[in-house]
Amino acid sequence: MREISDKIKRLEEKSAVLEPGATERKRLLDQVHNYSDAFYRRTDTGPAFSQSDEDSFLEKFPLKEEGESIEKLLQIFEKSVEKPGINPASGGHLGYIPGGGVYPSALGDYLAAVTNRYAGIYFANPGAVRMEQMMIDWLCSIIPFPKTAGGTLCSGGSIANLTGITAARDRYGIEGAAVEKAVVYLTGQAHHSLHKALRIAGLGKCKWHTIPVGNDFKMQVEKLEEAIEEDRAKGLRPFLVLSTAGTTDTGVVDSVGDLSAICQKYGLWHHIDAAYGGCFVLVEDLKPHFKGWELADSITIDPHKGLFLPYGTGALLIRDPDLLLKSHHYLANYMRDAQNEGQVMSPADLSPELSRHFRGLRMWLPLKLFGLGPFKAALEEKHLLARYFHQKIGELGFETGPAPTLSVVIYRYTKGLDPNDINDFNQDLIKKCHRDGRVFISSTVINGDIWLRLAVLNFRTHLDTIDKTLEMLRENVEVLLQDRV
Ligand SMILES: *Cc1c(COP(=O)(O)O)cnc(C)c1O
Repeated sequence: MREISDKIKRLEEKSAVLEPGATERKRLLDQVHNYSDAFYRRTDTGPAFSQSDEDSFLEKFPLKEEGESIEKLLQIFEKSVEKPGINPASGGHLGYIPGGGVYPSALGDYLAAVTNRYAGIYFANPGAVRMEQMMIDWLCSIIPFPKTAGGTLCSGGSIANLTGITAARDRYGIEGAAVEKAVVYLTGQAHHSLHKALRIAGLGKCKWHTIPVGNDFKMQVEKLEEAIEEDRAKGLRPFLVLSTAGTTDTGVVDSVGDLSAICQKYGLWHHIDAAYGGCFVLVEDLKPHFKGWELADSITIDPHKGLFLPYGTGALLIRDPDLLLKSHHYLANYMRDAQNEGQVMSPADLSPELSRHFRGLRMWLPLKLFGLGPFKAALEEKHLLARYFHQKIGELGFETGPAPTLSVVIYRYTKGLDPNDINDFNQDLIKKCHRDGRVFISSTVINGDIWLRLAVLNFRTHLDTIDKTLEMLRENVEVLLQDRV
């Protein structure tokens, strides 16, 4: 026994660094704080995108038995992680769907990690679970869903979509032989995470019926009804409509109210993917686009987009949370102390996760600290910036897509070009802009043509950023045109 206790003591000593004392904690935190400040300064003035050629820097520092200094690790981090690629914190990130990352979210994550509160089960931490529930209830209220609605915070829109689709699948009992007869409706503008989710949920062999979009890029409502009738007549079983409020390519909102009405008429589940667009309902002037979405069965909203949180927070909101419970609840002998007697549902019963990040805090802290007002103002500003860009880029001789419904603009340079050269020219232009890096824009393909995209959803994007973007595009077009003569 003596031998064991000696050994235990030696091991305890050796592992004691795992618990730094107060002075050391402060020193570490100061270092990280200094780094954050320098990072924000660099972000203000630096590029939004840097193409990297040095990609094996990190691996030069493999894990070792002995630790190293925080100063050195921050240097490694800066060079290998901060520098190359897109800087999503930069207001100049105008590609894909940005978000930014408000600072108090970082503090929320810090506190969540320090206190390590477990937000999976009500019994384990009622406060953490209530905080998440409060965020879900608030998101439900902006739709507004009925008071009895609920949902779950997850890592992002992809998992939120998967969670909604899973609940729909189980509600309609789509399993076994039923799968091949079941029909899902979506459009060519649906986000690929929906296709992924359908496959993961075992619905890959369902009929995926693609409904055409109109010139406005929205799902054609009459075409949906025709398709449902047609599929029913064939003896198939329509059960799910996947619509989008804020598509990735063009940012349009499907006619969600009309789609809900059709779903109700035929008894189908209506899931709205509003990962990008959902929070724009907070802008008074944009509310009409969302008319009737409160009649949907489930809605995905990404707080790491429209509420400017750092990556890692999505939400699935559902009219009937009992259905989430039916798909995800479990009973395990070793969990018997934790069974839920409270009126608040446990997140672990509503999603595939058991141990999970306490996501509520990174959302609650900024919303409470700043209040809702500044978030609404920033969303409205983003919408107006997109409209401003749409107008100005047209004046520079670009062809533009529809005026932005929310904050995405598509455009391409065509003026004076041979029609056969338009795609190549715009491909060259996007490449040139990526090398330029002042701001980051992305591109997409619509009906076989290359279009450039501007997505304004970083809270740090302001009027001067958009002017800088216009300047960058103008200059690079000029250079490309010169190269072509
Ligand atoms: C971003 C997005 C998703 C995917 O969400 P993640 O948070 O990236 O997983 C799904 N649908 C739409 C419309 C999106 O904009």
